[in-house]
Amino acid sequence: MTETTLSSTEAPAKHVQKYTRNQPYLSKTLVNTKLTGPESEKETIHIELELEEGMSYLPGDAVGIIPTNREPQVESVLKALGYTGDERVLDHYKVEISFLEAITSRLAIGKLTRSAVNQLGKLAGDAAPAGLKALLGPDNKALAEEYVWGREFYDLITEFPGLIKTPQDCFQVLARLTPRMYSIASALEAHPGQVHTTVRVVRYHSHNMDRQGVCSGFMGERMPVGTLVPIFLHENNNFRLPADTDAPVIMVGPGTGIAPFRSYLEYRQIMGHKGDNWLFFGEQRSVSDYLYKDQFQAMEQDGFLTRLSTAFSRDQQRKVYVQDRMREHADDVFAWLESGAYVYVCGDAERMAKDVERTLLDIIALGANNTLEYANEYLAAMKKAKRYQLDVY
Ligand SMILES: Cc1cc2nc3c(=O)[nH]c(=O)nc-3n(C[C@H](O)[C@H](O)[C@H](O)COP(=O)(O)OP(=O)(O)OC[C@H]3O[C@@H](n4cnc5c(N)ncnc54)[C@H](O)[C@@H]3O)c2cc1C
Repeated sequence: MTETTLSSTEAPAKHVQKYTRNQPYLSKTLVNTKLTGPESEKETIHIELELEEGMSYLPGDAVGIIPTNREPQVESVLKALGYTGDERVLDHYKVEISFLEAITSRLAIGKLTRSAVNQLGKLAGDAAPAGLKALLGPDNKALAEEYVWGREFYDLITEFPGLIKTPQDCFQVLARLTPRMYSIASALEAHPGQVHTTVRVVRYHSHNMDRQGVCSGFMGERMPVGTLVPIFLHENNNFRLPADTDAPVIMVGPGTGIAPFRSYLEYRQIMGHKGDNWLFFGEQRSVSDYLYKDQFQAMEQDGFLTRLSTAFSRDQQRKVYVQDRMREHADDVFAWLESGAYVYVCGDAERMAKDVERTLLDIIALGANNTLEYANEYLAAMKKAKRYQLDVY
């Protein structure tokens, strides 16, 4: 097993951010373009935002975006509650604002939560109808989880009308509209004064309605070039390139998980880092879903990107994922690990990251001709030495 020292990634960023989630920077949208082709089942976009001089980030950091709710959604909530929007309410800081502003930019009227259902029940008290009562409390958690899936605030107030008595009640029922985080997809050194992200626009159809994610929908539909958008930069010192610029890195980033690796690669390239780079990227179809294809292929052609392994699951009958490509190259992956490679995984936490970890364990056991128990220890040691880092969501 390769010996490594602790704290072997780049020194934590020490820059103090002037702008925060509570005091965001109003950034201008410079680019908003679709990365996926018309045949794609997904919609993934590339966003470039302007930064004020002095704002800085490192590869591995994220950018927080503060969205507003969609107008038609806001209108239907107003209509369902019978309000005009001109009513006055106190926001979370006890500042008086219009109800329209509250449901546009302060309250989470998007995907419904169990907490909102419970709060409405609390507000209604004895007046809560039986259908709502059946969803309340810890005993009805499973039923409530099922109920909220694919529903929004509008669905709740139309199914159980008349329980919200004043516009201010909405502050009791609904959570705050929170910013969403996006992995930074650019290196500041390659794009001074800019931050880039790669965003999958969440769209789905449920309970007879077309719906979209609040923030990704905002970026996908309502953030054309020139739009001012509140943002802040978010440090992530648990996802850092090696301090040793000669160390090899293996990056596994299917889907939007590719974002931080565009940043890593741009950074290593512009800084002239000599370490080898191996990128695993996966998506559904090469023709429509190969994000940043030209850029990565150019990096591969000029020898900077040592290896580029792609897995397009729907390009052939048998589904092929990034972990299958890793398995195909098991000997080489293990050789890279033995030579001190750092492994980074970004993207889907639910399945991909687990599948990739299982594959890594198999590769280690096979390569070392040893047991899975040994592989677990090997990977744990890598984790401790920060040679195995995850940024999954
Ligand atoms: C550190 C970090 C980095 C991230 N990096 C990226 C990135 O680089 N790119 C990226 O695109 N995202 C990234 N994300 C995810 C991102 O922050 C948002 O969570 C994502 O864009 C969805 O937000 P939204 O506001 O559009 O959707 P929301 O309004 O939050 O809605 C999403 C919710 O909708 C519901 N939903 C979705 N599909 C369905 C369906 N078919 N049926 C019923 N309900 C459904 C689910 O409850 C889901 O949680 C990252 C997250 C974290 C924490």
